[in-house]
Amino acid sequence: MSYAAVETLIVQNGLSIYGGFHGDTADGLPEGHQTLLMLGPSPSFWPHFKTTPEFADGTPDPIDRWSNRILTELATQLNATAFLPFGGPPYAPFLTWAIKTGRAWSSPVGMLVHDTTGLMVSYRGALAFRDRLDLPTPPEQPCTPCVKPCLTACPVDALSAEYGYNTEACHAHLRTPAGKTCLTKGCLARRACPVSKGANRTAEQSAHHMSYFHRTEPS
Ligand code: SF4
Ligand code: SF4
Repeated sequence: MSYAAVETLIVQNGLSIYGGFHGDTADGLPEGHQTLLMLGPSPSFWPHFKTTPEFADGTPDPIDRWSNRILTELATQLNATAFLPFGGPPYAPFLTWAIKTGRAWSSPVGMLVHDTTGLMVSYRGALAFRDRLDLPTPPEQPCTPCVKPCLTACPVDALSAEYGYNTEACHAHLRTPAGKTCLTKGCLARRACPVSKGANRTAEQSAHHMSYFHRTEPS
């Protein structure tokens, strides 16, 4: 099986390959598996997702339920083993895996930045293969030459590499009228990253994610 053949099937399902690496059980791969590919929303994910039964059925967590179904189907079709970033414990080490792909790095605001989706990076699952697939050469880290608009975009300085994500300050801002822009169009800091444009997030998609995030705010 070739990387190109795997990618073709993945793209047909509204996903993209966000990176991969060669590893073994020490990396959390199942016995006898040599390659891990990480998957996230493709630039055409949202219109694709809106046609799915999970979007239409009105039941909570539609994207997680869709991810579960699609990753299970892809694993069967590709003779691979699926992993999801939710539903634990135990949890698969998605952050460690992401760094290991060479296509995601710690950003100046702490959260991961990805080579094609910037600060909008979101992993929907991973597939482990017994085959050693040929992987593309990882790109350059995008932050070095960047003027770093992510550092000043959040109106309440809720993001920093030093202190992490101050979700309390973020939620407090989202409860104010000034926080409406983040709620309806997406996190200002994530949107400020020029690489985030590659995710092609629509305002509707961002509002969906923000509604779930803010729904879990501390009381
Ligand atoms: S959602 Fe808004 S308040 Fe929260 S971290 Fe992003 S920019 Fe800051
Ligand atoms: S805005 Fe620039 S420095 Fe910040 S995460 Fe994006 S590429 Fe990196």
